[in-house]
Amino acid sequence: MHANEIKYFEEILRTRRAQIIQNITSVEAELVQLQQMELNDEGDYAAASNDNIVENAIGMQQEQELREIEEALVRIGDGSYGSCEMCDDDIGIHRLKVKPHARYCIVCREIIEKNRQ
Ligand SMILES: [Zn+2]
Repeated sequence: MHANEIKYFEEILRTRRAQIIQNITSVEAELVQLQQMELNDEGDYAAASNDNIVENAIGMQQEQELREIEEALVRIGDGSYGSCEMCDDDIGIHRLKVKPHARYCIVCREIIEKNRQ
């Protein structure tokens, strides 16, 4: 991959990372609010608690994505970014544009998905 292409994806990954960190931080702030609410009003807490289960699921998804982004940034650092972790082939620009933190090429991705079922 060309240096300017790597730079382009690095930019996307860094922006996305900052966004996720901000999201996670605001979810945590809401959790603190929720704990304070618990002391005040039981009914509201039950409703807020349901919202919170959904938010936690989103939070976990984002933390997973954050980890993958960190790994992708490491691969940019060591020069292996853009290569499939399984077969070493190029992941391909088009796939990286859809998912800049992709670890596998589309062929290996499908093999992994199939094995998971
Ligand atoms: Zn592959």
